Amino acid sequence: MSLDVPTLFIVSIFVTTILGLFLLFAWVQDRSIRALAWWGAAYLIGGISVGIYTVQDSLSSALSMAIGNALLFVACGVIWSGARLFHGREVRPIGMFAGAMVWLVALTIPGFAASATGRIVLSSAAISAYTIMTAFEIWGGRREWLLSRWPAFAVLVLQGIVFLSPIPIVLLAPAEATLAEFAGNWFGIFALETLLYAIATAFIILTMAKERSERIHRTAATIDPLTEIFNRRALMDAGRRVLGRIAWDKEPAAVLMFDLDHFKKINDRFGHAVGDRALQTFARTAAAKLRATDIVGRLGGEEFAAVLPATNLQAAAIAAERVREAFEVAAKDIDGLPVGGTVSIGAAATDNPDADMDKLLALADQALYAAKASGRNRIVLSGSSEERAVAVSEPQSAPPVSGGRGSATLAPNELTTAISAARASRKPAAEAA
Ligand code: GH3
Ligand code: MG
Ligand code: MG
Repeated sequence: MSLDVPTLFIVSIFVTTILGLFLLFAWVQDRSIRALAWWGAAYLIGGISVGIYTVQDSLSSALSMAIGNALLFVACGVIWSGARLFHGREVRPIGMFAGAMVWLVALTIPGFAASATGRIVLSSAAISAYTIMTAFEIWGGRREWLLSRWPAFAVLVLQGIVFLSPIPIVLLAPAEATLAEFAGNWFGIFALETLLYAIATAFIILTMAKERSERIHRTAATIDPLTEIFNRRALMDAGRRVLGRIAWDKEPAAVLMFDLDHFKKINDRFGHAVGDRALQTFARTAAAKLRATDIVGRLGGEEFAAVLPATNLQAAAIAAERVREAFEVAAKDIDGLPVGGTVSIGAAATDNPDADMDKLLALADQALYAAKASGRNRIVLSGSSEERAVAVSEPQSAPPVSGGRGSATLAPNELTTAISAARASRKPAAEAA
């Protein structure tokens, strides 16, 4: 097979330039991903580099070889820098220009400039090093889940290896005549492979950038910015998914509803900023005191809710008590101010496979209302199926609990009894509800 190298070069110039413009255009559309601008610039520099090769008068034109290659290494360095930026790391200018610098300095050594072997070895090593370094950056960012990260990593590693391949070939065939033959046979294939690599890489990095910006937008739509936990919509969606699994898991599910006590007074007395800190403290405390599989969200204002999979009402009471107690401790002082924040909690559980998230939340809300009515800083449990509510009062010196509609009341020490009963039964038994 014989490939026409000049034609390939012309195609490469146009293709890399167009891809560079595409990447820049994508950056203009979403400027938050600055790496796109760097990658676009790298492609344009790469296009210029191939252009310089193409317009050179003869293969021995030393200047065009010097500048053409130097620009190619700069392009590789800029791609690497883009990958660093993409992962929130700073650009290293020395590293970015090191390839080009080493190349230009090496060319001032007469022996090196005259040796095709030396030039091929250094060029291959430089490009391969940048490609592998870029692959490392992509790998290093793997904590952020992007599907397109993996093809990007694979293509870069593969290309890093392919670019190393000329080194053993030229070192094993040092005669210049063999080298010329090697160049004649393989240069076209190499140029074609590089062109395909450039096209594939542009698409993969564009996909990675798009995937990230989609994820950022999705997150913005599901996370409450102040407390950094789920917002109402995301929590309700998660709750519906949990309830939908009841039939499958044969486990009940519980919902806790939280409302910070006298929050308006906290705002009035200490200021809105301290109120915000109290909300953040609650979100952190609740997330820390519930299991990793439980889902906490902010319904709005100073109201929060949690969905607890595989949890019956008694186990939910234990979890709620952990949160209530921990928040009382955490919100006693905020920013050195005696805020004394507390929370009232309503809990509801169900083992009904057809349970409805809105209804379960409404039951928890009723129980919460009872907790407020009976003095705050306490937990009230609502029986879901039979409208039987078990009210529990915890805090010391709290007035007796008057339960929600159709609710029964337990004396304060009965919370301990309920908790021990739940602990003894271990299994979050549906039958307990
Ligand atoms: P209760 O014990 O009965 O729940 O009384 P409360 O004062 O907590 O309830 P109320 O609903 O009267 O007040 C809620 C307050 O929460 C009013 C509102 O200004 C405040 N609030 C809502 N959202 C935010 C917020 O994002 N930050 C701050 N700092 N305050 C908020
Ligand atoms: Mg409220
Ligand atoms: Mg409140």
